[in-house]
Order: sequence, then C-alpha cells, then structure tokens
Amino acid sequence: MAMYLKSIELLGFKSFGKKEKLVFTSSIASIVGPNGSGKSNVAEAFRFVLGEQSMKSLRSKKGEDLIWGGSPALARANRASVKVVFDNSKRLLDIDFPEVMIERVVHRDGANEYLLNGTQVRLKDVIRLLAGANIGGSGYQIISQGEADRILNASPKERREMVEDALGLKLYQHKKAESERKLEETAVNIDKTKSLRREIGPHLHFLRMQVERLEKARELREELAHQINDYLAREHAWITQEDARLLDEARVYDTQIRDAGRALEDARARRTGGNDAVVSEIQSKLRGAEHALAQVRQEGERVSRELGRAEGALEAVSVTVTESISASSARDFAREIEEALDDAEDTEDLSEVRLVLERVRDRIRSFIEGFADKVHKPDTAHTQHVVDLSAQLAQIQKQETAATAELEMLRQELSRARESGFVAERDVIALEAQLREAQSKLSMVQNSRAAVAVARERFEEEVREGIALIGAAVHGWQRSEIPQGSLSEDRSVQERRRRAMERLKIKIEEAGIGNSDAVVKEFNQTKQRDEFLTKELVDLETSAASLRDIIAELEKTIDQRFTEGLKHINVALGEFFSKLFGGGEAKLTVETPRKAREARHGAGPADLDDEDLGETIPEEESLYAGLSISVSLPRKKVRGLEVLSGGERALTSIALIFSMSQVNPPPFLILDETDAALDEANSKRYADMIRILGAHSQLIVITHNRATMAAAGELYGVTMSSDGVSKLLSVKLAEAEKVAK
Ligand code: ATP
Repeated sequence: MAMYLKSIELLGFKSFGKKEKLVFTSSIASIVGPNGSGKSNVAEAFRFVLGEQSMKSLRSKKGEDLIWGGSPALARANRASVKVVFDNSKRLLDIDFPEVMIERVVHRDGANEYLLNGTQVRLKDVIRLLAGANIGGSGYQIISQGEADRILNASPKERREMVEDALGLKLYQHKKAESERKLEETAVNIDKTKSLRREIGPHLHFLRMQVERLEKARELREELAHQINDYLAREHAWITQEDARLLDEARVYDTQIRDAGRALEDARARRTGGNDAVVSEIQSKLRGAEHALAQVRQEGERVSRELGRAEGALEAVSVTVTESISASSARDFAREIEEALDDAEDTEDLSEVRLVLERVRDRIRSFIEGFADKVHKPDTAHTQHVVDLSAQLAQIQKQETAATAELEMLRQELSRARESGFVAERDVIALEAQLREAQSKLSMVQNSRAAVAVARERFEEEVREGIALIGAAVHGWQRSEIPQGSLSEDRSVQERRRRAMERLKIKIEEAGIGNSDAVVKEFNQTKQRDEFLTKELVDLETSAASLRDIIAELEKTIDQRFTEGLKHINVALGEFFSKLFGGGEAKLTVETPRKAREARHGAGPADLDDEDLGETIPEEESLYAGLSISVSLPRKKVRGLEVLSGGERALTSIALIFSMSQVNPPPFLILDETDAALDEANSKRYADMIRILGAHSQLIVITHNRATMAAAGELYGVTMSSDGVSKLLSVKLAEAEKVAK
C-alpha cells in the first residue's frame, strides 16, 4: 500500500506552542490522548496546511486564534506554522520532486504565507496542486469531531459536491469553473467590444462621410486645377495674340489717318486757295482776249469799209479802161475770181478763207497791172490807198486770227482749271470718308484693346484666385502648350469655360471642410480601431465558442464519471450499510431539479424525498440536480434519516464516507472521533472497515476506542502538561489503552 503522507510538523499552531512532528510509518495511524490534550488540533493542522479558508472549520474567529496564545510557562508565538511532507516518488502531485513539502504560516496580523518546498507560492497554486491529487475541496477526507453525520446534514447540493469531490471530479470542476469564468469574461469583453464598436460606429460613419467628401473635393480641385490651367493657357494665348493683332491694326489705322489727313489737307488746298485764283485769272485773261478780239474785228470792219470806199473811188477814175480790156480776158479774170470764191465758200477753215482772199487780191492786182500800159496811168494815189488798206486789212485779219486762237486757248484753259477744281472737291469728300472710316476703325480697335486690357486684369485676378484655391499648381498653364483651337475659337466658348469654372469653385466651396489632414488621420485611426475591434470580436467569439465546447466537453466528462462513480458508490454503500446494520438498504439518488420537476409534473404535489420535507431550497439551488439519500433499516418499517438514532446516523455517515473512499480512494483520510457514538459491537465493525479502507488510503484516526486503536499500525499519544503545551509521542497499544480508559 502506498503511503503518501510522510510527516506533519506543527510550530506555534494552537496548543502546539513548541515544535512537534509526527512521522507516519504505517498506513493506519491512530492518535490518542485525553480530552483537551490537542488531538483535534492536529486534525485541524492538516486542514490548515491544505489551504482551509473557513475559520469556522478551524474552530476560530480570526487568523490570530490559530497561533499559540501563550501560557505562564511559555510566551505566545507570533506565527503559527504547519508543514506537511508528501512522498511524491509516484508523482501524486504534479510537480517534479520526489518529496513535496507544503507549509502554511499565519501571522498575528492575519497574513498567510504558503511555501512549496520552501518557495513562496500563492494559495491557488497549492489548491490546484492538491486538487490534481484528489485532495482538498469539500474536505470530506478530513472528518472533524462531531462532523460524522455532516454528509447526512448537508444539503443535496453540498452532498453532490462531496461526492463529486470524492470521485476526483474537482479538477474537472475547477477547469469547468475556470472556463466558465473565462467565458463570462469573454462575454463581458464581447459586450464591451460591441458597445465600443457601437460607440465609434456613428463617429466612424461621420468620418467616412467626411473623408468621402474630402475625396470628392480633392477630385473637384484636381478638376478645377485642370480647368484653370486650360482656361488660363487659352486666355493668355488669346490676350497675347489679341494684343499684338490690335496693336498692328491700330498702327495701320494710325498711318491711314495720318495719310488721309495729309491728302485731305492737300485736296482742300487744291479745292480752295490755288484753283480759284487760277480760274479767275484765266477768266480775266479771257475777258481781255474777248475785248481784244472785239477791237480787232471792229478795226477790221472799219478798214474793210474804207477799203470798199477806196476801191469805189478807184473804179470811178478808171472808166476808159473798159474799152481797152478784151472781153475774153475779163471773162477769164471773172471766172478765176469766182472759182476762188467758190473755194472759199466751200471751206469753213478761216485760215483757208484768208489764203483764198490773198490769192484773190494778188489776181486782182496782176489783172490791173496787166493792162496798166494800155490805159493811161490811173490815179496812183487812189491805188496806193487801196493797196495800203488791203495790207492793213490783211494785217488786222492776222491779228484777228491770233486773237481768236488766244481766246480759244484761254477757254480750254478755263475748262481745264474748272475740271481740276471738281477733282479736288471729289477727293476731299472721298478722303473725308476715308478718314472717318479709319478713325472709327481705330476707335473700334481701341475699344477692343480696352476690352483686352480688362481681360488681362481679369486674367491676373484669376491667377491670384487660383493660387488661393489650388496653390502653385495654378502656374501649370505656363508649362502646358497652347490648347488647340484657343486662337481660332469663338470667345463665347471660353466664356462658357469660365462659367463652368465658377460653378466648380462654388461646388468646392460648398464641400469645403476645415483641416482635411486631421480628418483623414482621425478616420484612419478610428477605422483601424474599428477593424481591430472587429477582429477582436471575431477572436473573442471564437474563443467563446471554444470555451463553450470545452465546458460542454467537461460537463460531459463530469456527467459520465459522476454517473459511473455514483453507481459504484451505491454498490459500496449497499455493502457497507448492510455490514454495519446487518441488512437494510441505503442509496444515493440524483434529484430532479425542482424547476424541471415542476415543469414536468405541473404545479401538483411533488414526489418529494423524505429529507426534502420542510426544507426550503435556495433559489440558486433549485435548478441543481443534487443528491438525496434514502435509507431503510432492517426490521424497521420507518424510513428516512430523521428517525435514525445518533448511533444509526453515525453508522450511516460512516458507511457513506467509506463507500465514497472505496470507489476513488483518496491518498489519505483523517477521521476525528468519527466512532465516538458507536457501541462496542459497532466499534468492532468500524475497526474492520478501517482495515479495509487502509488497504487503499492512508488513515489517520483520532479515537478513544480500543478496537479502533487496535486496527492501527502505529499509535501517537498527545499530552498536555501544566504548561498548556501539547506534546506528541509514539506509544504502544497497551499505553494507549490506558489513556483510553
Ligand atoms: P477531546 O478529546 O475532548 O476532543 P482534544 O484532545 O481533541 O480533546 P483539542 O480540542 O484538540 O483537544 O484541544 C483543545 C485545547 O487546545 C484546549 O485546551 C485549548 O485551550 C487549546 N488551545 C486551543 N487553541 C489554543 C491556542 N491558540 N493557544 C493555546 N492553546 C490553545
């Protein structure tokens, strides 16, 4: 049989004012001693060192009560310490040491210390380590004095816990509780995470909208930058071109105006000043010439008349001549004159007429000279007069011809002069029109130039505004090429562009949000946080699901083992019970939870077990499938725990405790006067069972019974002398029996 408990050492614990040590060498050790010597304190020392937290279970009110309180012989201690040593060669405890010492110390201020092989650890480390070895928990393996029927008095829930504990399910329960705690935490975290997400949700949404708007605004600004560049490039090209073109045109019209002005001045001069003088001069000359011609003609007529008279006079003095001129020669002469005159009549040319007249005169003269010798000499004075007059007339006729020619010339000159005056007038009108046109064109050009200047100002204004809106990108137009068609398109197209640009600017202004960087940053942070929370949520839900799986798995294991274990316990219980009572029956039954029971049976009278009578089950236990115990004694009709005598109750408890220990033997079992109520016959049966149990568990039995002492392999006596300090010593059965008496 394995022995796990090697020793226990007490120093300053309760009545053990001095260091005392118990070393176990037998699987059944019995502690004996008189009342009040400190036996129960030893049992409590086990509870204490194994982590008991209930002061009541240690018969104390506070930590200080556990410390040696002092006596006149020995001063009080400041700390109580209990050390227990386990043999761990079979790895009872899950720790890699062949021997494990657990020590608990309590100080006067109530502070506790736990040490594992001398190293300070936490209470829960101790509890976990012991649970792994099926030690601790509900403490059924340490049955304190007077607590024998505790298992009978326990509620169904407590009872079930004890059974679970005995079946070694504590570890699973711990794991389950741990998982449930984690699940709860996880649920809390899920809720927290969800509420965090809900909290940031609207903010995130708001930020997302903001960022979308920013994005839109950024696109709009890009579009605007593009439009501005295009617009400015076109505008600049147009302005430059217009400027140059209009300047050229203005120069052309300036020149035209200057030239036309000069020409007009000239034409006006020609029309007024010069020409009028010329015309009047020619007119006065013309008047002179007409006058001269009239005089010449008058003179000619006078000479012509005188010549007629002279010729008449001459004819009168030449009467005799008739006889001396032959008729034929007179006829020839007449014919010749007539022919000449005919010629003169036929011509209109004055000079021709004059020539004819000359010829006629010469003929007349030669005719007269031809017959001069034949007649007597006519009066020469008359003849000479005629000749002179004829010459004079010829002279006058010459003068008349010249005067007529002069007049003609002057007339032509006047007409020419007049003609040139008309031309000048026409020129003036034409030039004036030309000048007006040039001037109006120039003024149109100047208007256009003013419009271009306005356009330039607006261009510069656009550039400034552009800088404010899109920054340095506004200068992009200088780099870009002149957009196609900018110089040839209609101005209204560019104006449409400008209006579109204005509309875009308004849009951007409307979308305008303050510090975009901050918004984007906050959005990203919030988004990351949301994503983190989402991921966290998934993780949490995954872990919750896996925890639920674990819990379900553990529950299944616990349930299976419990059902299985309970079956075995009931078998053992039946055996122990009938052994102790010489028949009868005892059985543990799983209760149906009250709520479930009510649901199943309706509100009608419940099929209550005996011990349930009058018992009020706390709310939280009402759903718990606790364990009830049913007992039927041999030869007795009554059933139920209430009717049992004190001894019967003790026997029943013992049967129950032993049957539990039998199924899943604990490493050790401490029984503090569990046999106190038994009569001699039953004490013997108890001793028999102790032996049976001792085959599987180490037993420490505090007793006053001889039969029990006899079952032990070793005996320890506890004494207390007048100093009030408990002492431990190994004793022989005979001595022990003396004490027992
Ligand atoms: P019985 O056989 O009657 O059950 P016992 O041997 O089990 O007696 P205990 O109950 O173990 O006796 O011991 C009780 C004794 O321990 C009392 O005399 C009590 O005064 C003493 N005691 C308890 N606590 C302290 C303490 N803190 N300091 C000193 N003595 C203490």
